[in-house]
Amino acid sequence: MRENHAQMVFHHFFVLAEVFFTLGNNLCAQEIYDLEEAKVRSFLRRCRAKRAAIQLPAGLRQHLPEIKQTFDSMGVEALMLADGCYGACDPADVRAKLLGCEVLVHYGHSDMRIPTCLPTLYVEARMLVDPMETVEHVLPHIKFNRVGLLTNVQHVKSLKRVAKLLRSRGFKPFIGGPGPRAKYPGQLLGCDFGCARSVASRVDGFLYLGTGDFHPLGATLATGKQVLAVNPISGRFKLISPDIDAFLRGRKAMIARAAVGERFGIVVSTKPGQTRLNLASGLVESFKRAGRDAHLLLVDEVRPEELNDFRFDAFVCAACPRIPIDDMKRFERPVLTPFEAHVMLGKAKFEPYKMDEVGGEDLSSS
Ligand code: SF4
Repeated sequence: MRENHAQMVFHHFFVLAEVFFTLGNNLCAQEIYDLEEAKVRSFLRRCRAKRAAIQLPAGLRQHLPEIKQTFDSMGVEALMLADGCYGACDPADVRAKLLGCEVLVHYGHSDMRIPTCLPTLYVEARMLVDPMETVEHVLPHIKFNRVGLLTNVQHVKSLKRVAKLLRSRGFKPFIGGPGPRAKYPGQLLGCDFGCARSVASRVDGFLYLGTGDFHPLGATLATGKQVLAVNPISGRFKLISPDIDAFLRGRKAMIARAAVGERFGIVVSTKPGQTRLNLASGLVESFKRAGRDAHLLLVDEVRPEELNDFRFDAFVCAACPRIPIDDMKRFERPVLTPFEAHVMLGKAKFEPYKMDEVGGEDLSSS
């Protein structure tokens, strides 16, 4: 059980975790990330905090002792909330308050503007690795002229320099405004490809700076444009195009497996930034209108351990959009995205395939 949980956390935080395989884990956190110590100190001072809760994603956890030093040196008791930390969609403010903390310091993600019951500081842990050499190396492989620039929060501050470099080499770079969940221009989240869509009509393709496949895959499906995914840690890169046959075949097969089922669980997470109860209730109604039996399930973490005991033939995940894709091998029964459920019910066409995204209006708790 713990192994599965750890795997799930790893899936969601590969961006940070990969760093340690590539850079080695002899470096201290301050040599890899900007942990904004001065900002943390000023926040603790301003809030007159005596006890603070800390949330860390997987990749930063091994640096807990160094991170805690800032708190210790100010006489602030720091409690590490060690449950899975999936994103800024999952602030642990309620638990922190129950534990008597006056503040929450959440590392590794940008503020998603989710209301919290405690003063909350987001330390984005931007990477100090300079990606310019890697980008320079990749330039001859960019076969399009108008280039949309995309990244995650760890590299967001490099985008303007990348744009300048591209411009100096005759390319036309574009950086799209942030979508509803992101904070910065050019920033992608696994549930928000808005910045890619906002410039899609003006570009021939995208350059994504970051690790992992999910974000560039989502961007290419959301825009219909190719994405050159550049890993600034390893220096590797690959081109992802919108006709991702294997991915689409796999999702089609998943819908076909679910379609023969009779009973469906529509899953919502109680995590504040994943509570899409309105969406889930609408799905239950759609299933019922189509003569299918469907029930709402509310869980904190969407894991097989929670769902397997229910006698449903398939599930629809109205929580984090990454779960049906990243974690599909972990579930015994099919898990569809809301879009795929609509396809299954004949309410939408499979192509063009739509990645699931979360808009502010979905969140029933906000
Ligand atoms: Fe990341 Fe969005 Fe999923 Fe939260 S809901 S874990 S921010 S992809």
